[in-house]
Amino acid sequence: MDFKSELDEIREAGLYRSLRRMESATQRAVTVEGRTLLMCASNNYLGLANDPRVQEASIRAIREYGTGSGGSRLTTGNTDLHEKLEEELAIFKRTEAALLFNSGYAANVAALTALVGEGDLILSDALNHASLIDGARLSKAQRQVYGHADLTELDALLRGAQGRYRRILIVTDGVFSMDGDIAPLPAICDLAEQYGADVMVDDAHSTGVLGPNGAGTVDHFGLYGRVAVQMGTLSKAFAAEGGYIAGSRDMIDYLVNRARPFIFSTALSPAVIGAARAALQIVREEPHRREQVLAQAEWLRSMLRGEGFTVFPSETPIIGVLIGEAEEAVAFARRLEEAGVYAPAIRPPTVPAGTSRIRLTLTATHTNSDVDAIREAFAVARGAV
Ligand code: PMP
Repeated sequence: MDFKSELDEIREAGLYRSLRRMESATQRAVTVEGRTLLMCASNNYLGLANDPRVQEASIRAIREYGTGSGGSRLTTGNTDLHEKLEEELAIFKRTEAALLFNSGYAANVAALTALVGEGDLILSDALNHASLIDGARLSKAQRQVYGHADLTELDALLRGAQGRYRRILIVTDGVFSMDGDIAPLPAICDLAEQYGADVMVDDAHSTGVLGPNGAGTVDHFGLYGRVAVQMGTLSKAFAAEGGYIAGSRDMIDYLVNRARPFIFSTALSPAVIGAARAALQIVREEPHRREQVLAQAEWLRSMLRGEGFTVFPSETPIIGVLIGEAEEAVAFARRLEEAGVYAPAIRPPTVPAGTSRIRLTLTATHTNSDVDAIREAFAVARGAV
């Protein structure tokens, strides 16, 4: 097989991607190719990936349960550790039950392929994460995409779908991963109830970060009991890896029976579960972490706007700074790096053409002087154009 011409095409379009090697843990500062840079692109929102309590819990889990779980949950991989985390997640999300998957990606694919199928309809926000798009494609349900957060279009699609489908599932990111804005979830729930549809929200970026209890967008808007399928990941604020679906007991039991990524894959390793349980406890007990990261992000957004940059509207630790064309964004990211800041360019197909951007994420460990250093790096990077 020869892929040279295909690769050349990707390069010519300015869309070639290559891996960057981190030579240290990705905490606040990171070593990349021998240089220490301020890490502004990690989803470790609360800074827990290097918290000694989380690390210790992970090590304890390895000591007690070993390194690999050795089988799928339905064979030999189901430990009390897995079940305890699921119980804790269900309490946190205020649902009857929760079920772990091996990644957030797998959780979305699993839920969509199991919960809807032929004769059903998925209504999907245009900016939904790739894992929701892939899950929807793999399900045998019909799919219709509504404009980003466009409630008028969603209303029209729901009206047009009346009486034609067995189930209608509205699927949305809670916090959109590339823009950082929050879905209009209360209005989506109102529409769902008006038209007899259900709602699935992907709370990958809001869990641990938004809401009075840090439980995500459902918590943020006080929508408990109104979102049938709450997806989350352990890979971001929870500083581990793995995903989960929270919802009714029957839905979870159904997923155990029907979700292929759950049935046919080895259970998450004990190390991951140990870390996630400790992180969840810290999320519940230390609200100042989320308050800190949200305040720093707000401050950085206002500083960058003050410098004349176009910053996407957001209330979360995700900060998108519009650059425009893919090549320009890549060059801007390179100059930021020369100025000591690691924040990659995000290009098509991840974001629409013409909206290539620098995507920054802050974590609770960034200090005031870090925020100022980021502003300064942006000013320097622009000056160097
Ligand atoms: N949903 C969203 C919105 C995401 O941003 C991501 C990861 N970037 C995922 C799902 C997938 O989660 P994971 O990385 O745990 O597979």
